[in-house]
Amino acid sequence: MIVAIDGPAGAGKGSVTKQVGERLGLINIDTGAMFRCVTLNILQKGINLEEENKIKEVLDKIHIDLKENGKVFLNGKDVSKQIREDEVNHMVSPVSVIPMVRKKLLELQRQMAKGKNVIMEGRDIGTVIFPNADVKIYLDATAQERARRRVKQNQENGIDCSYEEVLKSIMERDQKDATREIAPLKQAEDAIYLDSTNLSVEETADEIIKIIKTKAY
Ligand code: C5P
Repeated sequence: MIVAIDGPAGAGKGSVTKQVGERLGLINIDTGAMFRCVTLNILQKGINLEEENKIKEVLDKIHIDLKENGKVFLNGKDVSKQIREDEVNHMVSPVSVIPMVRKKLLELQRQMAKGKNVIMEGRDIGTVIFPNADVKIYLDATAQERARRRVKQNQENGIDCSYEEVLKSIMERDQKDATREIAPLKQAEDAIYLDSTNLSVEETADEIIKIIKTKAY
């Protein structure tokens, strides 16, 4: 079974998907973390986004491991914290428009789900990666609420930031993700729209579980 959860930055996809996965025994795949790993690797090597051959080399050698406990390993190293830092936040949307990056991650994402029951979150899961997913949800919230949540999350992780900066960064990333040519952020025609602005993580997870149960069982 494939459950696809798409939506903009900070809509709650990460925490909600984790909870739904645990409650229903589905493997949780955070595709944003995969784009973040590619971005971090490009930054680590000081590669310019015009240097196609070098990016190809990165993609040929990359090994991304999403652990069950939510930790993210890039080429054998735990980068769970590094991939959430500002440098990666700024660079991840420009990296994710590069066609060979999307092609490589599309292949990896399909492979990771093969023969398994998964809940996969991202931007193009219901539209491009798994157009035949059993359940598709587009999870949204107002930009202001999404920025508030990100600030809280950052504070919990000891990352210093201001609400205004986070709001600006989220809106810029949404704009880039929604207007790019390949696999833009958009609701699939057959996806169910869920607004989590006034819902807690538990309440959102409850709603999603209700939808999964009516659609897929
Ligand atoms: O989900 P998260 O905010 O961690 O994703 C980081 C970035 O990765 C997004 O802003 C987007 O540019 C890119 N992304 C994507 N397609 C996906 C998941 C993430 O382009 N399926």
